[in-house]
Amino acid sequence: MKLKIICKYGRYPAADGGTSCFWLSGGGANVVMDMGGGALIGLEQNGLPLPDTDAIALSHLHFDHMSDVLALVYKCEIYEREGRLKNKIPLYLPDTPSDVFALLERTGAFDLRVVKDGDEAFFKSLKLTFFAMKHPVETYAVRCEADGKALAYTADTVYNENIARLIEGCSSVFADACVLARDFNEKSPHISVRDIARLTRESRSKIVLIHLPPEGDLDGILEEALSENENAALGETGVWYEV
Ligand SMILES: [Zn+2]
Ligand SMILES: [Zn+2]
Repeated sequence: MKLKIICKYGRYPAADGGTSCFWLSGGGANVVMDMGGGALIGLEQNGLPLPDTDAIALSHLHFDHMSDVLALVYKCEIYEREGRLKNKIPLYLPDTPSDVFALLERTGAFDLRVVKDGDEAFFKSLKLTFFAMKHPVETYAVRCEADGKALAYTADTVYNENIARLIEGCSSVFADACVLARDFNEKSPHISVRDIARLTRESRSKIVLIHLPPEGDLDGILEEALSENENAALGETGVWYEV
């Protein structure tokens, strides 16, 4: 199983790439996790034609994780006209905020599959398990398993007890890393880099830092993660992470 970071930033794109998009490949299947701004062009540049994906999974309906799904609606029309899209692409997602969900529903472009905590989805021999996270909107992290290996994508979250279940036995954790411990407060919608790095040390996982702030202190983020887990790295786009 392997994962390629297509877009590594949180909130808004930077000059060198967009927000939150990951290509997961394993067990004979391909799944795209999140599609923020810049995801469509990023997937194209990295050689994944969307008609060939088994599914798209949206962790939550914040725009930096789903805005390019709206642009994909127009591409799907072209794929259908060209006969490249026989069935609508399955789109796994939470059904709140209800106005954003209704907007996606109204497009009629996707085969919508609502997820809840603990739901599992299988694509050939790739298994995804959705874990409810804690964030201002309904959010699911994803545990991915194939070929006896596991990796996790935390999505956006603050600390919660599901994180330990999510990352247990995962060799790599692709983790929300946009808030340094010094900037963290009770109102923060994101866990601190220090806390998520400590959790990944406890699960003996490598931590790959994603959802990076486009104008943030990336050296500081890496340093803080390394202080808790020596097996930490800043996420890089266009690179396959093999597990
Ligand atoms: Zn986000
Ligand atoms: Zn979010």
